[in-house]
Amino acid sequence: MPGSPDPAPPELASITARAPAKVNLLLQVGPRRDDGYHDLVTVFQAVSLHEEVTVTPADEFGITVEGVGGTDVGGVPLDGTNLALRAARLLAERAGVDRAVHVHVRKEVPVAGGMAGGSADAAAALVACDSLWRLRLGLDALAELGAELGSDVPFGLHGRTAVGTGRGEHLVPVLTGASSAWVFVLAEGGLSTPAVFAECDRRREATGHDAPPGRLEAVEAALRGGDVDALGAALSNDLQDAACALDPALAGTVAAGRRAGAVAGIVSGSGPTVALLARSPAAARRLALDLEPLFGAERLRTATGPAPGARVLEAVSTPSPGGRS
Ligand code: ATP
Repeated sequence: MPGSPDPAPPELASITARAPAKVNLLLQVGPRRDDGYHDLVTVFQAVSLHEEVTVTPADEFGITVEGVGGTDVGGVPLDGTNLALRAARLLAERAGVDRAVHVHVRKEVPVAGGMAGGSADAAAALVACDSLWRLRLGLDALAELGAELGSDVPFGLHGRTAVGTGRGEHLVPVLTGASSAWVFVLAEGGLSTPAVFAECDRRREATGHDAPPGRLEAVEAALRGGDVDALGAALSNDLQDAACALDPALAGTVAAGRRAGAVAGIVSGSGPTVALLARSPAAARRLALDLEPLFGAERLRTATGPAPGARVLEAVSTPSPGGRS
Protein backbone atom coordinates (compact mmCIF):
# COMPACT_ATOMS: atom_id res chain seq x y z
CA MET A 1 0.00 0.00 0.00
CA PRO A 2 1.56 3.34 -0.99
CA GLY A 3 2.88 5.30 1.98
CA SER A 4 2.54 2.45 4.50
CA PRO A 5 5.73 1.39 6.36
CA ASP A 6 7.57 -1.73 5.23
CA PRO A 7 6.14 -4.77 6.98
CA ALA A 8 8.49 -6.47 9.48
CA PRO A 9 10.44 -9.25 7.77
CA PRO A 10 9.02 -12.70 8.47
CA GLU A 11 10.69 -14.82 11.16
CA LEU A 12 13.09 -17.28 9.57
CA ALA A 13 12.56 -20.97 10.28
CA SER A 14 15.90 -22.06 8.84
CA ILE A 15 18.76 -21.02 6.58
CA THR A 16 20.87 -23.33 4.42
CA ALA A 17 24.29 -22.18 3.22
CA ARG A 18 26.97 -24.00 1.32
CA ALA A 19 30.75 -23.69 1.07
CA PRO A 20 33.33 -25.30 -1.21
CA ALA A 21 36.26 -27.65 -0.65
CA LYS A 22 39.72 -26.51 -1.73
CA VAL A 23 42.78 -27.87 -3.44
CA ASN A 24 46.21 -26.24 -3.04
CA LEU A 25 47.80 -25.59 -6.45
CA LEU A 26 50.97 -24.54 -4.66
CA LEU A 27 51.83 -25.19 -1.03
CA GLN A 28 55.14 -23.79 0.17
CA VAL A 29 55.86 -24.51 3.82
CA GLY A 30 58.36 -22.31 5.67
CA PRO A 31 60.38 -23.48 8.67
CA ARG A 32 58.54 -24.27 11.91
CA ARG A 33 58.13 -21.08 13.93
CA ASP A 34 58.62 -20.80 17.71
CA ASP A 35 54.84 -20.85 18.18
CA GLY A 36 54.68 -24.23 16.38
CA TYR A 37 53.04 -22.89 13.22
CA HIS A 38 54.63 -22.64 9.78
CA ASP A 39 54.51 -19.65 7.46
CA LEU A 40 52.84 -20.72 4.25
CA VAL A 41 52.68 -19.42 0.72
CA THR A 42 49.84 -21.21 -0.97
CA VAL A 43 47.51 -20.90 -3.92
CA PHE A 44 44.04 -22.13 -3.01
CA GLN A 45 41.46 -23.07 -5.56
CA ALA A 46 37.87 -23.69 -4.44
CA VAL A 47 36.28 -26.68 -6.21
CA SER A 48 32.73 -27.82 -6.79
CA LEU A 49 32.52 -30.31 -3.93
CA HIS A 50 30.39 -28.70 -1.28
CA GLU A 51 29.31 -28.82 2.32
CA GLU A 52 25.77 -27.71 3.14
CA VAL A 53 24.93 -26.34 6.56
CA THR A 54 21.37 -25.70 7.76
CA VAL A 55 20.81 -23.68 10.93
CA THR A 56 17.46 -23.75 12.72
CA PRO A 57 16.51 -21.78 15.86
CA ALA A 58 16.66 -24.08 18.89
CA ASP A 59 16.61 -23.92 22.70
CA GLU A 60 20.26 -24.91 22.87
CA PHE A 61 23.19 -25.37 20.48
CA GLY A 62 23.38 -28.81 18.89
CA ILE A 63 24.80 -30.57 15.83
CA THR A 64 23.94 -33.43 13.50
CA VAL A 65 26.05 -34.59 10.55
CA GLU A 66 25.07 -36.53 7.45
CA GLY A 67 27.27 -37.94 4.65
CA VAL A 68 26.23 -37.22 1.06
CA GLY A 69 27.17 -39.44 -1.91
CA GLY A 70 28.86 -42.03 0.29
CA THR A 71 30.99 -39.61 2.34
CA ASP A 72 32.10 -41.40 5.51
CA VAL A 73 31.38 -39.04 8.42
CA GLY A 74 32.62 -41.45 11.13
CA GLY A 75 35.53 -39.15 12.08
CA VAL A 76 33.44 -36.00 12.53
CA PRO A 77 33.04 -34.86 16.14
CA LEU A 78 29.44 -34.42 17.34
CA ASP A 79 30.31 -32.31 20.36
CA GLY A 80 31.37 -28.73 21.05
CA THR A 81 34.63 -29.24 19.09
CA ASN A 82 32.81 -29.49 15.74
CA LEU A 83 33.94 -26.53 13.68
CA ALA A 84 30.45 -25.68 12.39
CA LEU A 85 29.08 -25.57 15.94
CA ARG A 86 32.08 -23.56 17.16
CA ALA A 87 31.47 -21.09 14.32
CA ALA A 88 27.78 -20.61 15.26
CA ARG A 89 28.65 -20.14 18.94
CA LEU A 90 31.51 -17.73 18.20
CA LEU A 91 29.32 -15.55 16.00
CA ALA A 92 26.51 -15.48 18.60
CA GLU A 93 28.99 -14.51 21.32
CA ARG A 94 30.71 -11.75 19.35
CA ALA A 95 27.52 -10.31 17.87
CA GLY A 96 25.71 -10.39 21.24
CA VAL A 97 23.00 -12.77 20.03
CA ASP A 98 21.43 -14.68 22.92
CA ARG A 99 19.67 -17.26 20.78
CA ALA A 100 20.86 -20.78 19.94
CA VAL A 101 20.66 -22.87 16.76
CA HIS A 102 20.67 -26.48 15.77
CA VAL A 103 23.32 -27.00 13.07
CA HIS A 104 22.86 -29.77 10.49
CA VAL A 105 25.83 -30.50 8.21
CA ARG A 106 25.58 -32.41 4.92
CA LYS A 107 29.12 -33.45 4.01
CA GLU A 108 30.22 -34.13 0.45
CA VAL A 109 33.90 -33.38 1.16
CA PRO A 110 36.09 -36.24 2.45
CA VAL A 111 36.83 -36.00 6.19
CA ALA A 112 40.50 -35.38 7.13
CA GLY A 113 41.22 -35.48 3.39
CA GLY A 114 43.29 -32.30 2.97
CA MET A 115 40.37 -30.51 1.29
CA ALA A 116 39.34 -28.35 4.26
CA GLY A 117 35.86 -29.82 4.70
CA GLY A 118 35.72 -28.82 8.36
CA SER A 119 36.74 -25.27 7.46
CA ALA A 120 34.02 -25.19 4.77
CA ASP A 121 31.50 -26.24 7.46
CA ALA A 122 32.62 -23.34 9.64
CA ALA A 123 32.42 -20.90 6.71
CA ALA A 124 28.92 -22.06 5.77
CA ALA A 125 27.77 -21.92 9.42
CA LEU A 126 29.02 -18.32 9.73
CA VAL A 127 27.16 -17.24 6.59
CA ALA A 128 23.99 -19.12 7.59
CA CYS A 129 23.87 -17.69 11.13
CA ASP A 130 24.72 -14.19 9.89
CA SER A 131 21.68 -14.45 7.65
CA LEU A 132 19.36 -16.11 10.21
CA TRP A 133 20.14 -13.45 12.81
CA ARG A 134 20.04 -10.67 10.17
CA LEU A 135 23.47 -9.40 11.23
CA ARG A 136 24.77 -8.42 7.76
CA LEU A 137 28.37 -8.40 9.02
CA GLY A 138 29.91 -8.69 5.55
CA LEU A 139 32.51 -11.13 4.25
CA ASP A 140 35.59 -9.42 5.69
CA ALA A 141 34.23 -9.34 9.25
CA LEU A 142 33.12 -12.98 8.97
CA ALA A 143 36.57 -13.93 7.59
CA GLU A 144 38.24 -12.25 10.57
CA LEU A 145 36.09 -14.34 12.93
CA GLY A 146 36.70 -17.42 10.77
CA ALA A 147 40.49 -17.05 11.09
CA GLU A 148 40.07 -17.63 14.84
CA LEU A 149 38.54 -21.03 14.08
CA GLY A 150 41.07 -22.23 11.49
CA SER A 151 43.46 -20.85 8.89
CA ASP A 152 41.44 -22.24 5.94
CA VAL A 153 38.09 -20.76 7.05
CA PRO A 154 38.61 -17.30 5.46
CA PHE A 155 39.27 -18.99 2.12
CA GLY A 156 36.09 -21.08 2.49
CA LEU A 157 34.20 -17.80 2.82
CA HIS A 158 35.84 -16.09 -0.17
CA GLY A 159 36.24 -19.08 -2.52
CA ARG A 160 37.47 -18.75 -6.15
CA THR A 161 41.30 -18.78 -6.46
CA ALA A 162 43.59 -16.90 -4.08
CA VAL A 163 47.13 -16.65 -2.81
CA GLY A 164 47.21 -17.30 0.94
CA THR A 165 50.06 -16.21 3.21
CA GLY A 166 50.68 -16.21 6.96
CA ARG A 167 49.03 -19.44 8.11
CA GLY A 168 46.95 -19.24 4.92
CA GLU A 169 44.46 -16.70 6.24
CA HIS A 170 45.77 -13.58 4.44
CA LEU A 171 44.21 -13.79 1.00
CA VAL A 172 44.75 -12.02 -2.31
CA PRO A 173 42.54 -13.08 -5.25
CA VAL A 174 44.21 -14.51 -8.36
CA LEU A 175 42.89 -13.96 -11.88
CA THR A 176 42.09 -17.14 -13.77
CA GLY A 177 41.72 -17.28 -17.55
CA ALA A 178 39.98 -20.65 -17.62
CA SER A 179 38.31 -23.11 -15.30
CA SER A 180 40.14 -26.27 -14.20
CA ALA A 181 38.76 -29.81 -14.27
CA TRP A 182 39.72 -32.23 -11.50
CA VAL A 183 39.40 -35.85 -10.49
CA PHE A 184 39.86 -36.43 -6.77
CA VAL A 185 40.92 -39.88 -5.59
CA LEU A 186 39.81 -40.33 -1.98
CA ALA A 187 42.00 -42.39 0.33
CA GLU A 188 40.69 -45.19 2.50
CA GLY A 189 41.53 -43.35 5.74
CA GLY A 190 42.43 -39.78 6.71
CA LEU A 191 45.72 -38.11 7.63
CA SER A 192 46.12 -35.77 10.58
CA THR A 193 47.28 -32.34 9.37
CA PRO A 194 49.59 -31.78 12.42
CA ALA A 195 51.15 -35.24 11.89
CA VAL A 196 51.95 -34.40 8.25
CA PHE A 197 53.56 -31.06 9.20
CA ALA A 198 55.58 -32.85 11.93
CA GLU A 199 56.78 -35.46 9.42
CA CYS A 200 57.76 -32.66 7.02
CA ASP A 201 59.84 -31.00 9.82
CA ARG A 202 61.40 -34.34 10.74
CA ARG A 203 62.44 -35.05 7.15
CA ARG A 204 63.94 -31.58 6.78
CA GLU A 205 65.94 -31.97 9.99
CA ALA A 206 67.13 -35.42 8.96
CA THR A 207 68.31 -34.30 5.52
CA GLY A 208 69.31 -30.72 6.36
CA HIS A 209 67.33 -29.62 3.29
CA ASP A 210 64.54 -27.10 3.16
CA ALA A 211 62.08 -27.34 0.30
CA PRO A 212 63.25 -25.79 -2.98
CA PRO A 213 61.80 -22.33 -3.59
CA GLY A 214 58.19 -22.52 -4.75
CA ARG A 215 56.95 -21.36 -8.09
CA LEU A 216 54.24 -18.90 -7.24
CA GLU A 217 54.85 -16.81 -10.35
CA ALA A 218 54.64 -19.87 -12.60
CA VAL A 219 51.30 -20.90 -11.03
CA GLU A 220 49.90 -17.37 -11.32
CA ALA A 221 51.03 -17.04 -14.97
CA ALA A 222 49.53 -20.43 -15.88
CA LEU A 223 46.23 -19.49 -14.21
CA ARG A 224 46.10 -16.08 -15.89
CA GLY A 225 46.81 -17.60 -19.31
CA GLY A 226 44.39 -20.50 -18.80
CA ASP A 227 47.25 -22.84 -19.79
CA VAL A 228 46.49 -26.29 -18.40
CA ASP A 229 49.89 -27.80 -19.32
CA ALA A 230 51.77 -24.94 -17.67
CA LEU A 231 49.52 -25.26 -14.61
CA GLY A 232 50.16 -28.99 -14.44
CA ALA A 233 53.92 -28.39 -14.60
CA ALA A 234 53.77 -25.72 -11.89
CA LEU A 235 51.66 -27.63 -9.30
CA SER A 236 53.76 -28.28 -6.19
CA ASN A 237 53.19 -29.30 -2.60
CA ASP A 238 55.93 -29.22 0.06
CA LEU A 239 53.86 -31.62 2.19
CA GLN A 240 53.63 -34.27 -0.52
CA ASP A 241 56.72 -36.30 0.47
CA ALA A 242 55.68 -36.27 4.12
CA ALA A 243 52.10 -37.33 3.26
CA CYS A 244 53.45 -40.11 1.00
CA ALA A 245 55.74 -41.31 3.79
CA LEU A 246 52.78 -41.57 6.18
CA ASP A 247 50.50 -43.16 3.56
CA PRO A 248 52.70 -45.15 1.17
CA ALA A 249 49.80 -45.83 -1.22
CA LEU A 250 49.69 -42.16 -2.27
CA ALA A 251 52.69 -42.14 -4.62
CA GLY A 252 51.13 -45.07 -6.51
CA THR A 253 47.81 -43.21 -6.75
CA VAL A 254 49.48 -40.15 -8.31
CA ALA A 255 51.40 -42.40 -10.75
CA ALA A 256 48.23 -44.32 -11.69
CA GLY A 257 46.48 -41.03 -12.44
CA ARG A 258 49.31 -39.90 -14.69
CA ARG A 259 49.36 -43.23 -16.54
CA ALA A 260 45.62 -42.93 -17.11
CA GLY A 261 46.12 -39.57 -18.84
CA ALA A 262 45.93 -36.88 -16.12
CA VAL A 263 47.87 -33.73 -17.04
CA ALA A 264 49.34 -33.79 -13.53
CA GLY A 265 48.68 -35.26 -10.11
CA ILE A 266 49.34 -33.89 -6.66
CA VAL A 267 48.49 -34.65 -3.06
CA SER A 268 45.81 -32.18 -1.96
CA GLY A 269 47.06 -30.09 1.00
CA SER A 270 48.12 -32.39 3.83
CA GLY A 271 46.48 -35.34 2.02
CA PRO A 272 45.57 -38.08 1.68
CA THR A 273 43.23 -37.08 -1.17
CA VAL A 274 45.02 -37.01 -4.54
CA ALA A 275 44.03 -34.30 -7.04
CA LEU A 276 44.38 -35.14 -10.74
CA LEU A 277 44.24 -32.28 -13.24
CA ALA A 278 42.39 -32.99 -16.51
CA ARG A 279 42.13 -31.04 -19.76
CA SER A 280 38.36 -30.50 -19.57
CA PRO A 281 35.34 -31.64 -17.56
CA ALA A 282 34.68 -34.32 -20.24
CA ALA A 283 38.29 -35.53 -19.95
CA ALA A 284 37.91 -35.61 -16.15
CA ARG A 285 34.80 -37.81 -16.48
CA ARG A 286 36.67 -40.17 -18.84
CA LEU A 287 39.67 -40.26 -16.51
CA ALA A 288 37.43 -41.12 -13.55
CA LEU A 289 35.79 -43.93 -15.56
CA ASP A 290 39.22 -45.29 -16.55
CA LEU A 291 40.33 -45.26 -12.91
CA GLU A 292 37.18 -47.00 -11.64
CA PRO A 293 38.55 -50.56 -11.94
CA LEU A 294 41.57 -49.53 -9.85
CA PHE A 295 39.94 -47.47 -7.09
CA GLY A 296 36.19 -48.12 -7.29
CA ALA A 297 33.62 -45.41 -8.12
CA GLU A 298 33.05 -44.64 -4.44
CA ARG A 299 36.60 -43.28 -4.13
CA LEU A 300 36.42 -41.01 -7.21
CA ARG A 301 34.90 -37.53 -7.52
CA THR A 302 34.98 -35.12 -10.46
CA ALA A 303 34.81 -31.37 -9.86
CA THR A 304 35.65 -28.04 -11.45
CA GLY A 305 37.28 -24.92 -10.08
CA PRO A 306 37.23 -22.12 -9.26
CA ALA A 307 33.98 -22.34 -7.27
CA PRO A 308 32.39 -19.43 -5.41
CA GLY A 309 32.78 -19.04 -1.65
CA ALA A 310 30.21 -19.64 1.09
CA ARG A 311 26.72 -18.42 0.26
CA VAL A 312 23.11 -18.80 1.32
CA LEU A 313 21.24 -21.39 -0.73
CA GLU A 314 17.82 -21.31 0.86
CA ALA A 315 15.92 -19.30 3.48
CA VAL A 316 12.72 -20.82 4.83
CA SER A 317 10.27 -18.45 6.53
CA THR A 318 7.84 -19.48 9.25
CA PRO A 319 4.26 -19.27 7.96
CA SER A 320 2.47 -16.12 9.15
CA PRO A 321 -0.30 -16.72 11.75
CA GLY A 322 -3.01 -16.34 9.10
CA GLY A 323 -1.43 -19.09 7.04
CA ARG A 324 -0.10 -16.67 4.39
CA SER A 325 3.55 -15.73 3.94
P1 ATP B 1 42.74 -29.22 6.99
O1 ATP B 1 41.84 -28.02 6.85
O2 ATP B 1 43.53 -29.21 8.27
O3 ATP B 1 43.52 -29.58 5.77
P2 ATP B 1 41.31 -31.61 6.38
O4 ATP B 1 40.69 -31.07 5.15
O5 ATP B 1 42.43 -32.57 6.22
O6 ATP B 1 41.77 -30.42 7.29
P3 ATP B 1 38.85 -31.84 7.82
O7 ATP B 1 37.84 -32.76 7.25
O8 ATP B 1 38.63 -30.39 7.64
O9 ATP B 1 40.26 -32.29 7.27
O10 ATP B 1 38.94 -32.16 9.38
C1 ATP B 1 40.09 -32.39 10.12
C2 ATP B 1 39.70 -32.80 11.54
O11 ATP B 1 38.95 -31.76 12.15
C3 ATP B 1 38.79 -34.02 11.58
O12 ATP B 1 39.54 -35.21 11.67
C4 ATP B 1 37.95 -33.77 12.83
O13 ATP B 1 38.55 -34.37 13.96
C5 ATP B 1 37.96 -32.26 13.05
N1 ATP B 1 36.66 -31.58 12.76
C6 ATP B 1 36.08 -30.65 13.51
N2 ATP B 1 34.93 -30.21 12.96
C7 ATP B 1 34.77 -30.87 11.82
C8 ATP B 1 33.79 -30.84 10.80
N3 ATP B 1 32.71 -30.04 10.85
N4 ATP B 1 33.96 -31.65 9.76
C9 ATP B 1 35.07 -32.45 9.70
N5 ATP B 1 35.99 -32.54 10.64
C10 ATP B 1 35.88 -31.75 11.70
